[in-house]
Amino acid sequence: MKWREFVREFSNMSIYLAYNVNVDAIVYLNEKNIQKLVDTFGAGNILKKLDEYPRQIDEPLDFAARLIHALRTGKPNAVPMFNQKLNKWFDSHFKYDVERIGGQVGIIANLLANLDFKRVIAYSPLLGKRQAEMFVDKENLYYPSVKEEMLRLEGIRRAYKEGDPVKVNRIFEFRKGTKFRLGDEVVEVPHSGRFIVSSRLDELRIETKDDLRPFLPQIGEMVDGIILSGYQGIKNFYPDGKTADYYIRRAKKDIELLKRNKDVKVHVEFASIQDKDLRKKVVREIFPLADSVGMDEAEIAHILNVIGYPELSDRIFNYNRIEDVVLGGKIILDETNLEILQIHTIYYIMYITRSSNPLSEEELRASLELATTLAASRASLGDVKSPEDLKVGAKVPYNEQGEYVKLRFEEARRRIRTRGYKIVIIPTRLVKNPVSTVGLGDTISAGAFSSYIAFLRKKGVY
Ligand code: AMP
Repeated sequence: MKWREFVREFSNMSIYLAYNVNVDAIVYLNEKNIQKLVDTFGAGNILKKLDEYPRQIDEPLDFAARLIHALRTGKPNAVPMFNQKLNKWFDSHFKYDVERIGGQVGIIANLLANLDFKRVIAYSPLLGKRQAEMFVDKENLYYPSVKEEMLRLEGIRRAYKEGDPVKVNRIFEFRKGTKFRLGDEVVEVPHSGRFIVSSRLDELRIETKDDLRPFLPQIGEMVDGIILSGYQGIKNFYPDGKTADYYIRRAKKDIELLKRNKDVKVHVEFASIQDKDLRKKVVREIFPLADSVGMDEAEIAHILNVIGYPELSDRIFNYNRIEDVVLGGKIILDETNLEILQIHTIYYIMYITRSSNPLSEEELRASLELATTLAASRASLGDVKSPEDLKVGAKVPYNEQGEYVKLRFEEARRRIRTRGYKIVIIPTRLVKNPVSTVGLGDTISAGAFSSYIAFLRKKGVY
């Protein structure tokens, strides 16, 4: 299928999304504001802090250290901030260039609604007014409410709850080639990307609220696919005594409820989880209930690290070799019993599934092709506002490493055991000067999963 045919299929498909939306306050970094930050803290202090590698932001220096780390490596990353007192520090030290919808649910909901899906139902346990109004004004975009003990799909922009707090994440976008001084060193940023300071409000619980839970089986029946995300927002402890285990148990139950009346396909969109225990719980307990998972190469390394493959994890981190990613992907697929795993990297996107998968290799590649076309459209335009915008992405050429990537992949296939698996890869269509890189991974995953389902439906196997 080509993108136009996919778009036609999408208009007959409905998707349910939960759990995370937030406001993204974006700062575009440049030599000046980076240098100012370095000078404020001093290179020595930053480097010292960097050795500690803080996994959460408790003070401004933690932020400076992790940001500088991201700039040096050019790797996108997200680090949680629990201490809400730091909001003031950020707001007085940075001017936000843009405020827009964030969170995987927020990004994917607007994307799918703009692609004219039949119905997009987006759920977040909190929905403040400022948040609700960031959703696109489309008739096919709903929020599931409960009124008089009945499930009602309401236009999401009108479904806000007065008084609900709004979660604001701060995103620092950096550009390849930006230079700054760090002590004796001149750092040149090797890749464009973003560093996220993810705020963790006490009021926000990653869950389906009790009023809606009884209706999850009904929602599962209404849709063709489900995308779940936001587990990275679960905390170990809450002031009321609840724990991560409590919310993981609830999350598992949610999936069981969604699948109760119909075996609807569930995709989990994984995001970086700094806390290793929580990361392990999500992989060990949530993945086995899902059909499909999407992640980037940093995330695959993180996961391998907590499920007992630290050496392979290190290799992926340090060398990014395709054969290690294939090896790691096979391990995750088998250990968590997934139907399909999708891994996106800057130069290629890959599916790993079993040879019994009903889709042919060609169809799987077409699904990835739709995904990269979608991401390239978003990278070029900043936003995908209608299906016709895909034209733009379809014209973006494959990245220069594309042929090399394919070669390395064929080599890897000869070297490692791939019998019993179907593994396909395509090079990405890479936009040279992207308007923004926020949400590109989510866009790829939403495009890959939706087009995968479109094929299953078309073949009559789902
Ligand atoms: P994530 O790390 O999950 O946010 O995913 C980012 C993905 O977006 C990468 O793996 C690429 O496949 C894709 N991507 C990143 N930059 C660009 C770009 N400039 N043009 C097109 N796609 C991009």
